Amino acid sequence: MSTYQAPLKDMRFVLNELAGLRDVAELPGYQEASPETVDAILEEAAKFASGILDPINYSGDQEGSKWVGGAVTTPKGFGAAYRQFCEGGWNALPFEAEWGGQGLPRLVSTPVQEMWKSSNMSFSLCPLLTQGAIEALLLRGSEDLKRRYVPKMVAGSWTGTMNLTEPQAGSDLSLVRTRAERQGDHYLVSGQKIFITYGEHDLADNIVHLVLARTPDAPEGVKGISLFVVPKFMPNEDGTPGKRNAARCASIEHKLGIHASPTAVMVYERAVGYLVGEENRGLETMFIMMNAARFAVGLEGVAIAERAFQRALAFARERIQGRDLVQGGKAVPIIRHPDVRRMLMLMKSQTEAMRALAYTTAAAMDYARKHPDAAARERHQAFVDLMIPVVKGWCTETGIDVASLGVQVHGGMGFIEETGAAQYLRDARITTIYEGTTGIQAMDLVGRKIAREGGATAKAWLASLRTLDAELARSGNPDIKALRAQLASGVQAVADCVNFIVESKDARATFAGAVPFLKLMGIVAGGWQMARAALAAEKQLASGDRAFLEAKIATARFYGDHVLVQAPALRDTVVKGGAGAMALSEDQFLAA
Ligand SMILES: Cc1cc2nc3c(=O)[nH]c(=O)nc-3n(C[C@H](O)[C@H](O)[C@H](O)COP(=O)(O)OP(=O)(O)OC[C@H]3O[C@@H](n4cnc5c(N)ncnc54)[C@H](O)[C@@H]3O)c2cc1C
Repeated sequence: MSTYQAPLKDMRFVLNELAGLRDVAELPGYQEASPETVDAILEEAAKFASGILDPINYSGDQEGSKWVGGAVTTPKGFGAAYRQFCEGGWNALPFEAEWGGQGLPRLVSTPVQEMWKSSNMSFSLCPLLTQGAIEALLLRGSEDLKRRYVPKMVAGSWTGTMNLTEPQAGSDLSLVRTRAERQGDHYLVSGQKIFITYGEHDLADNIVHLVLARTPDAPEGVKGISLFVVPKFMPNEDGTPGKRNAARCASIEHKLGIHASPTAVMVYERAVGYLVGEENRGLETMFIMMNAARFAVGLEGVAIAERAFQRALAFARERIQGRDLVQGGKAVPIIRHPDVRRMLMLMKSQTEAMRALAYTTAAAMDYARKHPDAAARERHQAFVDLMIPVVKGWCTETGIDVASLGVQVHGGMGFIEETGAAQYLRDARITTIYEGTTGIQAMDLVGRKIAREGGATAKAWLASLRTLDAELARSGNPDIKALRAQLASGVQAVADCVNFIVESKDARATFAGAVPFLKLMGIVAGGWQMARAALAAEKQLASGDRAFLEAKIATARFYGDHVLVQAPALRDTVVKGGAGAMALSEDQFLAA
């Protein structure tokens, strides 16, 4: 089994050449992120990922988390790894110094998080959920709630969860039924939540559940949902965990993948909870922080794709099978065969495109937060809002495709668990479902992010791509020329679809094409990044790492010919094919 190696060269290239780390580090409050500090962080994180997390990924999957009598035991090695993770300050990386964090930009925590997700996705979910809960508390929690909970959670000694889903309320949270009755300064929370990631475990001293519930007189629907903090143990004044609260884990799910991550059924029986923000505005808080959570899941797609690629590449160099097509002779490693190369290039090029899009979006998040000029903050936020469903939807769907190609490269051994290739495919499969399915992301993209504002942000982005076209036109490199043509046709395809969406009067036809449109946006946004990467590589060729830079240009060209080339067909599906999805009546589905 190959060991995970963080793709540090590509990470640095994207950070410096595409996402503009230097400029981000000049934003107020981010001065710590000097190139030297960032380099040191990446090196250390890479060691932790390959030395500590990667070795317990496969064993964690095989062993899984276990539930006995309400307690959950995580697999061997997880407890020790989590302790080391917290002692190393990794949990605190993205948070402000006043809460015990390191105050680094999202652009820096993003590659670090990619490493955790690549080396051990199940493990990475615990800090991911804690981060989400911290952000919700910082955003809307009272000073007292922040003081009691946030420092412990930033340190990682207490972890967090997000309790949204109930059996009858998944994509549609207006159907949430959990109740919260006021009792003086607190509430009593009763109800059942399902699918709660790290809802119960043995890694930390306390678990801080953020729970969506309704107060008795709340209005129906999404406008009647409030958010509560419900700790497993009530905190004592000195900060130690005190009395056990009435929040218990009734069982954990048996799943297709992420076996080491416990997915809990949580039962609340008049558990003590504290309101976060105002009554009936819980979903609003969740929506504000959803960008961060959706981005984080999109990054899981990038991370799994990277890991699947590394393993497939290692296997392809070792597995001897078939003769060289031209030279004949003895059987050769399968990496010599053009079709295996094609698969590896598809894996590599899409992974790099996704990484570049994700990091560029992370940089825009930093600008949206810290840019001194309000208009610039707004512009960057609009770009982030547009790209979040794309990063979430496209990177996760593509992550699954890449993990599946990884199995294919392995042949029969890919289907056998020992190689580990199958685990990536199983683990990746959840990423298009949780934090909003791809269908829900695509509806968000088409409805809220494009139709509602007449396509303004999408059109501004397309205009910037046309400026890039002028730069590409100046290159004499044949690969860049070929990529330019593919990108131009992709940009036109997106423009046609944006016009179609903005002008459409048929909501059903538009929404039936929403997922193909999301895919088109992803492919073209990835092409945009690969074209920028090719130009940056071309500029450095004379003085830089030639092998890496030439590979970058060739990989970008491949992406154009094999991935971007799909854009016009997707445009036709969006514009002409939508109505077809509704062509059969429900009875006709049963007619055969
Ligand atoms: C392993 C795992 C971990 C999870 N972790 C958490 C967690 O920590 N906290 C938490 O609260 N939840 C968690 N979830 C729940 C997860 O977020 C939901 O499963 C997800 O949002 C989808 O909801 P659902 O399962 O009810 O599917 P449904 O909403 O029933 O969707 C079924 C299908 O219908 C489609 N669909 C639904 N509504 C529409 C619509 N209006 N238009 C078009 N298509 C639609 C969906 O796209 C999907 O294809 C987790 C789930 C799993 C499996």
